[in-house]
Amino acid sequence: MGVANESVRGRRRVADLVSRPARWPVWQIPTQLLTAVLLVELTAFLLIGFGLLTESSSWADGVVVGVFFGLSLLHAEIANNVETVRWRITDDLHVDLSSVWLVAGAVLLNPPLAALLAVAINTYLWARSARVRAPVYRQIFSTAAIALSCLAASGVVRYVTGGRFEVSEPGAGLLALMLAALVFFTVNTGLVAGAIAVSAPQAKVADIVGEWDENLLEFATISLGTLAAVAYIVNPWLVLFVFPPLLVLHRAVLVRHLELAASTDSKTGLLNAAAWHTQAERELQRGSRRVGPKAVLVVDLDRFKAVNDTHGHLAGDRVLAAVADAMRAEVRDRDLVGRFGGEEFVVLLRGLDEAGEGQVELAAVAERIRSRIASLCVEMPTADGPLSIAGLSASVGGSLFPGDGQDLRTLLQVADTALYAAKRAGRNVVRMGMHLPVAAEVDHEAVDSAR
Ligand code: GH3
Ligand code: MG
Ligand code: MG
Repeated sequence: MGVANESVRGRRRVADLVSRPARWPVWQIPTQLLTAVLLVELTAFLLIGFGLLTESSSWADGVVVGVFFGLSLLHAEIANNVETVRWRITDDLHVDLSSVWLVAGAVLLNPPLAALLAVAINTYLWARSARVRAPVYRQIFSTAAIALSCLAASGVVRYVTGGRFEVSEPGAGLLALMLAALVFFTVNTGLVAGAIAVSAPQAKVADIVGEWDENLLEFATISLGTLAAVAYIVNPWLVLFVFPPLLVLHRAVLVRHLELAASTDSKTGLLNAAAWHTQAERELQRGSRRVGPKAVLVVDLDRFKAVNDTHGHLAGDRVLAAVADAMRAEVRDRDLVGRFGGEEFVVLLRGLDEAGEGQVELAAVAERIRSRIASLCVEMPTADGPLSIAGLSASVGGSLFPGDGQDLRTLLQVADTALYAAKRAGRNVVRMGMHLPVAAEVDHEAVDSAR
């Protein structure tokens, strides 16, 4: 019943949008981005149109378009389960491995037909799996970007080989394939990265160009695409040999995403307890002194139950996420931050200053975390208007490796004991392990009000 209602509501929404173009989500994107997006789409449209008018295509070209479109449908159907799970567990830039067919088309076809094949494949995939997620304008942009990549790659092949790609010309053929792969990758990545950079100028480079392994995956797919083109010329049936490595590649990507999901705490994005344990153990076993002293911090929010009781669990969850962000911001990338459970967090600090065997830096980091949490003001919208929660605090216990213990269990016990000492001392304080002097007697009120 609910599903039926939703689908009726969905259809009404679509009908409403179609009848009133002024309401399309595309008009809500910033003008600069809209200009860039429209420019890319217009360029792709004009180049395809111009190419169709000037390039002559044969029946054999039509067959290549049909074969590779058919293969991409087959691939999409076989890999649909894997893709559905991937969409469910990740929001990252998404490499869907369809480039294998697009690149093969770019090598075998003239530029406008290669681009039309790309439009057909991309549109089918969108209709098949991502229709709920990607707004139409974004889909049109990504299709235009892919079409331009195919136009450019196919153009390069034509230019290098002086006509059609031939397997019998090893020198020019090899160069054409390498350049086609490079141009396809660069144009597509460049256009997508450009759109992200225009829409979010403050984004980090890693966010703009995507993760290393996603890019490697795209490159592996493109390489398979060049092999598929060569195979097609030798004997069209050989293209079927592309399927086993392609599907194994797809599964391998899923496994990596699942690993990441299994080690992440979904509320805070930090490592979950099991993953933190495993990684911290590994870190302690790795050449103990090589990268300087290490330490464990246990951070427990004070009287957190009261936050839930006053504002509700959802607000409590937002506070946990804000505390996690604050903790991450106060340590370095190489330190491991995890959520141990409930409102308790753990940090493994590595590569501490040799000065004072790491004691000085450990005390400073612990104090920074405590003070940052004390100054947090978490804002969130609610049904009754905006809500801001301040006056939070946390107690922190720490232990130093190897002074307080040689293994993780002992270090955690010592830090936990120190944490309880901090709670007994009145909360909102830092206490250190057995062998360290009690953390400097800091005047917290003064520190907090100075921030
Ligand atoms: P203390 O200063 O002694 O640590 O007091 P406390 O209230 O923080 O500690 P206590 O252990 O009594 O309560 C912890 C609370 O944390 C109880 C529970 O409602 C809350 N909590 C645990 N996990 C979550 C969660 O995932 N979300 C939310 N919103 N609350 C959680
Ligand atoms: Mg607590
Ligand atoms: Mg607790």
